[in-house]
Amino acid sequence: MLTENHPASDQGPAACQDLPQCSPLHFIGVFPSDFRRPLRSRFVPTAPTDNSPAREPLRLLAVHAHPDDEASKGAATMAAYAAQGVEVMVATCTGGERGSVLNPAMESNAGAKRDLAGLRRTEMANARRELNVQHRWLGFMDSGLPEGDPLPDLPFGCFALEPLSHAAAPLVRLVRRFRPHVIISYDENGGYPHPDHIMAHKVAVEAFEAAGDPDRYPGTGAAWEPLKLYYDRAFNPERFRALHDALIEAGLSSPYAERIAAWAETDTEGHQPPAPTHPTTTQIQCGDFFEARDRALKSHRTQVDPDGFFFAVNADSQRKVWPWEDYSLIMSRVQTELPETDLFAGIRAGLG
Ligand SMILES: [Zn+2]
Repeated sequence: MLTENHPASDQGPAACQDLPQCSPLHFIGVFPSDFRRPLRSRFVPTAPTDNSPAREPLRLLAVHAHPDDEASKGAATMAAYAAQGVEVMVATCTGGERGSVLNPAMESNAGAKRDLAGLRRTEMANARRELNVQHRWLGFMDSGLPEGDPLPDLPFGCFALEPLSHAAAPLVRLVRRFRPHVIISYDENGGYPHPDHIMAHKVAVEAFEAAGDPDRYPGTGAAWEPLKLYYDRAFNPERFRALHDALIEAGLSSPYAERIAAWAETDTEGHQPPAPTHPTTTQIQCGDFFEARDRALKSHRTQVDPDGFFFAVNADSQRKVWPWEDYSLIMSRVQTELPETDLFAGIRAGLG
């Protein structure tokens, strides 16, 4: 069950309850300042109405920057919900055209040399099947990860340089067509500072906010208002620390030592370790789907080394220590109680 055996988050939830109880839209997390502007009341519901899932399946949409991101962030959650009968959709913003071959075994692969983008489409189709989810490409060009000092300009026409209204339009269209109750995306830092990840965050927030407003994004379908927005915490330091400690305790070497040492550094505000931007509010029990997650990751053969970091600790060991995937609830248009064990908490109950 996804909703049982859940440990309370020891970071404690950001206080939904600090907000006025009558507020129909709950700001949970930390927002960029321009995201706190009040929503116009005409498209803020007080309870699920037209988008009531009472007579239809629950739907979950995950927004990702590149093919492979869906397999490394929230994959077991998606597989678990799909197995429950939830309709799960992955939206991939770019084709990953500017990625490199990161698996040594694929470096001499002729297909990867000739048509990396084409091969990544095949990889994505295989990963989608492993998770049993739906998938759509949003059609933008990979921006690449700029490197050097000074950093080079981003390439003309890439996703990260698109005006927001243009970049978000395909996702708004998909939201209005697929009609998700819950959207998952990255935080404002993108999880790591790849320009496509930061842009994926921006378009997800824009779509969450705008898709329910019939006056916005005309020509992209009938308005649909998603009810909850989460940021994934795939690289939650607590998880890596728990896995690291368990390995050391068992007398084994830890592949996470270097990463954990980096977190011991202070951040720019003097927090030691660096303060997380958003706390964990929601943990999804999905350990039974770690093997499906790993198969999805390995489907991205050009991007993932099967002997690499992601597979350094086997699924069974991970399941014993941290059988969850972690999320921050950022906005909710339904009442919910934190911490949560279900992305649809407050949606199921409100309609029961
Ligand atoms: Zn990516």
